[in-house]
Amino acid sequence: MSWQVNLLTLFPEMFPGTLGQSLSGRALEKAIWSYTALNIRDYAFDKHKTVDDTPFGGGAGMVMRADVIENALLALPNPGRKIYLSPRGQLLNQSLVKELVAEPAITLLCGRYEGVDQRVLDAHGFEEVSIGDYVLSGGEPAAMILMDACIRLLPGVMGNENTADNESFGTATGGLLEYPHYTRPAEWTAKDGKAYAVPEILTSGNHAKVDQWRLDQAKEITKERRPDLLKDKT
Ligand code: SAM
Repeated sequence: MSWQVNLLTLFPEMFPGTLGQSLSGRALEKAIWSYTALNIRDYAFDKHKTVDDTPFGGGAGMVMRADVIENALLALPNPGRKIYLSPRGQLLNQSLVKELVAEPAITLLCGRYEGVDQRVLDAHGFEEVSIGDYVLSGGEPAAMILMDACIRLLPGVMGNENTADNESFGTATGGLLEYPHYTRPAEWTAKDGKAYAVPEILTSGNHAKVDQWRLDQAKEITKERRPDLLKDKT
């Protein structure tokens, strides 16, 4: 059965976007995942297809209407877990990605303008999820990022099912950032004349030592760049 993503958006033509290429594109063709993008505007009630209005209490910008969004939501046969992409939401991380990919269906509400009327979020139990501490002009790129992170975890999408666990934030790596990678040529000279060699251990053929080196590197990089990830691992 396909992992189903329902999108509520004012720009359905933005999808599948980047998700139509490469791994996720092939998975879409194979129906490992599928999506339905509803244009919220099609669910407006007036002849002008109005989806937004000025905010009560004043202030800049426009707010997307609760009644129109609800009308679009109710048109979905299987909404599943409902998420509003929003800068004030829970930060997306690998453990939330794993949770979402385990759901049979999710619905992603993509905001525009100042955002959406709070009442539709409350009435339909939308969770809020943010992709980072910055403000985008719309929820569509955020939805694509969330979907990309989920799709690559679906069975049959990546060649090796264990790959994801061996990456940054993976369970096999203890949630650390990943060690550095190297490939051929073993000796490489950059255009400025500086020569770079591959760390010797990686060409030694000693797998136990390679594993230890990679673990040490992962710990060092995590300590330097993201000490917050080590907090629970004293
Ligand atoms: N007024 C909102 C605020 O200050 O929090 C920002 C609205 S933003 C211009 C329009 C839409 O982009 C939001 O409704 C949301 O769907 C999406 N968006 C913006 N930043 C986001 C982020 N960091 N994560 C997820 N969605 C985001």
